[in-house]
Amino acid sequence: MKIAILAGDGIGPEIVAQAVKVLKALARDGLALELEEAPFGGAGVDAHGEPLPEPTLKLARAADAVLCGAVGGPKYDGLPRAQRPEQGILRIRKDLGLFANLRPALMFPELVGASTLKPEVVSGLDVMIIRELTGDIYFGEPRGRRTNARGEREGYDTMVYSEPEIRRIAEVGFSTAMKRGKKLCSVDKENVLETSRFWREIVNDVAKKYPQVALSHLYVDNAAMQLVRAPKQFDVIVTGNMFGDILSDQAAMLTGSIGMLPSASLDAGGKGLYEPSHGSAPDIAGRNIANPLATILSCAMMLRYTFNKDEWAYRIEAAVKQVLAQGYRTADIHEAGTRKIGTREMGEAVVAAL
Ligand code: NAD
Repeated sequence: MKIAILAGDGIGPEIVAQAVKVLKALARDGLALELEEAPFGGAGVDAHGEPLPEPTLKLARAADAVLCGAVGGPKYDGLPRAQRPEQGILRIRKDLGLFANLRPALMFPELVGASTLKPEVVSGLDVMIIRELTGDIYFGEPRGRRTNARGEREGYDTMVYSEPEIRRIAEVGFSTAMKRGKKLCSVDKENVLETSRFWREIVNDVAKKYPQVALSHLYVDNAAMQLVRAPKQFDVIVTGNMFGDILSDQAAMLTGSIGMLPSASLDAGGKGLYEPSHGSAPDIAGRNIANPLATILSCAMMLRYTFNKDEWAYRIEAAVKQVLAQGYRTADIHEAGTRKIGTREMGEAVVAAL
């Protein structure tokens, strides 16, 4: 199992180092892992003049899975667009065909107090949001600026989904629901958008293959409302790129801290890029205070979704739960009565719990 390790910028190297400790501990217990590092994002610009250098891309293509930290930072903000670290993320997603973004929002019982919502609304929350990542209005053509018939300037984009694009993301939605609570909610705007009417038709067709999965449909505005009103009604949500962009951030905040949230971006064959849902946090970089748990939990997703090693994924998740139950917290999730520790110490605590 070959894993490309792209630590990136800001807190990236600090948090990825902890995830690597966890992977190496599993390797000592018999998991056949091969890890190789390469510069990415701003680190790629520093080393090779571009955010996704050729040797890094080559490594990512050859690997079975990619573990990323985060990219970006003030040092690179003034660079031309093509050299911006974030372009590295977009390019690697496109090159590897990573069309399915999986973002779980899982509430750990110990962290219920960290949410801005009432404990009874969020305790026990376990939602998986599946966002289509390579289509929709973010990539549709034509797009641009023009002058309309009235002589006014206007900006425009194109919302478009092809049948194969909808089918493959719907398949990911149904098969993920089969591994979980067998409930899938497809989110669209069918009352207004032609693209959404087509989306719903295709999702309903794919549903015929999955009679055990209870499928429902929600308009995106209602879904946004339901996510804060009664989020526990959801098991798996599948939606397009733009609606998913918004809803996955909303769902993330239900759990309180962005430092806890992993993510996976998968291709059609199960290869994936795994990364925390947060950015490179330059404001806290280099101070040993960043929370490495989102990155460590991303490794659990990697073992589950790319390598089909559910029992090993569970070991990581159980270790994280144990560490939280022991009262260890990084600064972002620290509350009175718990023990504040640093990035490295959190990594070591998870390894000890394994
Ligand atoms: P951010 O997620 O980096 O930080 C937002 C806030 O959350 C900050 O206060 C930060 O300190 C805190 N935070 C984030 N991760 C944390 C962790 N693990 N532990 C504790 N606290 C944490 O978002 P931002 O500030 O908007 O962006 C910073 C940089 O990251 C920018 O250059 C942006 O482009 C980049 N970014 C990269 C990715 C990615 O690599 N996929 C995603 C988002 C943003």
